[in-house]
Amino acid sequence: MKRAVYPGSFDPMTYGHLDIIRRSAEMFDELIVAVLVNQQKNALFSVDERVKILQEATKDLPNVKVDFFSGLLINYAAEHGLHVAVRGLRAITDFEYELQLSQTNRMLSDGALDTIFLNTSLQYSYLSSSSVKEIASFGGDISQCVPDYVEARLREKFQSR
Ligand code: ADP
Repeated sequence: MKRAVYPGSFDPMTYGHLDIIRRSAEMFDELIVAVLVNQQKNALFSVDERVKILQEATKDLPNVKVDFFSGLLINYAAEHGLHVAVRGLRAITDFEYELQLSQTNRMLSDGALDTIFLNTSLQYSYLSSSSVKEIASFGGDISQCVPDYVEARLREKFQSR
């Protein structure tokens, strides 16, 4: 059985992430979307909220599971018998960081964890969780960036501030 993990902050999930999830779910028998805990201390959404959003977004994809982890990805992968990580590449600016991360993971895991990259669908190449949060914080229209329920949660967050 071919399995992979798609790790990230997903704070919050955008259509760009969902595009990578859908496309990689077609390539693997099982895809685990794993939310990284504590990577960003100033995350807007709690891990529980981020997991729930991802579960809602992927409920029509039976081979996608949502989980969370803290610490090193290589340890999570080893515990779950996973040997492939999926990451998305938006632009050349993502490449250097992603290359370094994937080589580090490969080295630290003695070659047990490889990374594959999917390039973003062009219509999402400009999208990032941080820009979505910034636009939402100023009351801008983010309907093309995230599903309705994520937009609603973002509005709640910024109204209560
Ligand atoms: P991290 O903080 O770990 O980079 P993110 O949640 O921002 O986590 O992103 C997780 C992964 O999804 C990364 O590989 C990132 O490059 C990718 N990604 C983020 N936004 C998009 C997008 N709009 N299109 C394609 N891939 C994306």
